[in-house]
Amino acid sequence: MTLPERSQSYWIASTPETSYEALDGDLAVDIAVLGGGIVGVTAAYLLKQHGLRVALVEARRIVTGVTGHTTAKLTSLHGLKYSQIVSQFDRERARLYADANEGAIRFVAAVVQEQGIDCDLHRMPAFTYTREAGELDRIHAEVEAAREAGLEASFVTETTLPYEVAGAVRVENQAIFHPRKYLLGLARLVDGDGSRVFEHTTARDVREGRPCVVTTDHGRIRADHVIVATHYPFLDRGLYFARLEPMRSYALGIRVAEPPPQGMFISTGEDFQSVRPHPENGGWLVIVGGVQHMTGRSSVPTMQHYRAVEAFAREAFTVESIDYRWSTQDNRTIDGIPYVGTYTPASPHLFTATGFDGWGMSNGTAAAMILADLILKRHNRWAAAYDPARVGQLTKVGQVLRYGASNVDHLVRDRISQAAPLEVSDLAPGEGRVGKVGGETLAVSRAADGALHAVAPACAHQGCLVTWNEAEQSWDCPCHGSRYAADGTLLHGPATKGLERRPLVE
Ligand SMILES: Cc1cc2nc3c(=O)[nH]c(=O)nc-3n(C[C@H](O)[C@H](O)[C@H](O)COP(=O)(O)OP(=O)(O)OC[C@H]3O[C@@H](n4cnc5c(N)ncnc54)[C@H](O)[C@@H]3O)c2cc1C
Repeated sequence: MTLPERSQSYWIASTPETSYEALDGDLAVDIAVLGGGIVGVTAAYLLKQHGLRVALVEARRIVTGVTGHTTAKLTSLHGLKYSQIVSQFDRERARLYADANEGAIRFVAAVVQEQGIDCDLHRMPAFTYTREAGELDRIHAEVEAAREAGLEASFVTETTLPYEVAGAVRVENQAIFHPRKYLLGLARLVDGDGSRVFEHTTARDVREGRPCVVTTDHGRIRADHVIVATHYPFLDRGLYFARLEPMRSYALGIRVAEPPPQGMFISTGEDFQSVRPHPENGGWLVIVGGVQHMTGRSSVPTMQHYRAVEAFAREAFTVESIDYRWSTQDNRTIDGIPYVGTYTPASPHLFTATGFDGWGMSNGTAAAMILADLILKRHNRWAAAYDPARVGQLTKVGQVLRYGASNVDHLVRDRISQAAPLEVSDLAPGEGRVGKVGGETLAVSRAADGALHAVAPACAHQGCLVTWNEAEQSWDCPCHGSRYAADGTLLHGPATKGLERRPLVE
C-alpha cells in the first residue's frame, strides 16, 4: 500500500482545529453569512470591517469544506478559461474576469500584510501547458486571449517541470498560499465586537423579508441581508439545481528527491494534471492533482483515481513518500463564469456565490468583494459579469434541461424497486452497496474494522439514489453532489440533513 490509508488534506492536517460554539437560541445581526469557506469568511471579514454586525454560520468546522481540500493556487490563469469566455461572450467579459481575479490576488496579499497573517504566501508564475504538439494552437490562442484580457501572459516552451512540455501559457506574479492559515486568521478578526462565528450550526431555510429570517438547527437569526456561501446553494430557488455540475477531483501531497518545480502548473484537457509546491519546515511538499468526474458518477471504483494521480507523480518525479491524499468537488456553470449576486432577480436581500469550476481561491475572494459592495450599495465593476441572472443564463433552456434530464436516471423513485437483493455477509471491509435487505432497499457499507452501517439510500435533498465512494468511504449523490459519511452524517450540501440510519444485524 503506497497511498495513505485514509484521506486527509494537508491544509487541515497542518493547522489546529477550531472550536467556535454553536448558535444557542435566537439572534439579530445586520448580516448572516451561511457557510465558512473562502467566500463566507472573506465576506464576513469585509462586512465587519465596514462596521456591520455579522453572524458567520458554519454547519461543520470552518474551512473544512471544499476550501479545506483545495490545492490553493491563487491565480488568474485558469486552464484555457480566457479562450472559453471570449468564445461564449466577448473580450470585454474576459477583461472583467481577469480584472476580478487579479483584484482578488492583490486583496489577499494586502490583507495578509495589513493583518500580519502568516500563511506561506509566495509569488510565483502560473502555467497552463500541453505535452501534445497538436494542442499548441489552443495554447497560443489562450496566450492571446489572456494578454488581451490584461494579464502578463507569454508563450514558453521551458518550465521547471521535470518533463518536457510542447508549450505553455505563462502568467507572471501569481501566488501560492496556505488557505486555512489565511482564513483562520480572517475568522479570528470576524469573531468579537458584536459579530460572531458559529460552528456546528446548519442553516435549514431562509425566509427573505425585512428582516430576513434564517432557520438553523440551533435557533433563528434575523438579519437585514443573508449571504448563502454554502458552496452549493441549498435553497430551492433560482434554478441552481439545473445549472450547476459538481465535479470531483483528486490530490496527493508528496515529497520528492529533486528540487520541486517553482510555479503552479495545470495541463490542458479533461484528464488534466496539476502540480504546485508548498513550503514546509524548510523543505517542500509537492501537491499533484488530477482526474475529474461528476460527483457520485465515477465509472470506476474511486481509489483508481488516486492511483492514476500516483502513477503520474511517479512518472514525473522521484517520489520519496506520499504523505497525504485528499479529494473534493467544485461546481461547473453553464458558461464557465461563477454565479455571484442576488439569489434570484427578485431577492434584493438574499445573495449567493457558487460555480467556481475549480478556481475559487481568487474567484471566491472576488465573489466576497462583489457581495460586500452589493450589500453596501457601492458600485462594483465586476458584478454584472458574474450576475447569476446574466443574459443567456435563465434562457438557455435546452442546456438547463440537459443537466436536469441527466439526473432523472438517478432518481430513487425509478430505481428503488429495481434494487437487487444484497447479501450483507458478502460485503468486504471498505465496501458499500445499495440493495434489498429483508424487503427494504438500504445503502449498506462495511468499515475497515468490520462494523456494518446501514442508511436510507435516498438523498435527503431530492431523493436521488446515492452511490458508494470507496476512496472517501462516503455515500455520494449523483444528482446534485450531496455527500454523507457511512453512518449517514451529512458531509456536503445542498442537503441540509443526513441519511436516516437503519438497524441491521448480521
Ligand atoms: C480538487 C480541487 C482542487 C482545487 N484547487 C484549486 C486551486 O488550486 N485554486 C483555486 O482557485 N481553486 C481551486 N479549487 C476550487 C476552490 O477550492 C473552491 O472553489 C472554493 O474552495 C469554494 O469555496 P466556498 O467557500 O464556495 O465553499 P466551501 O469551502 O465548501 O465552504 C462552504 C461551507 O459551507 C458550509 N455549509 C454547507 N451547507 C451549509 C448549511 N446548510 N449551513 C451552514 N453551513 C453550510 C460547508 O460545511 C462549508 O464549510 C479546487 C477545487 C477542487 C475540487
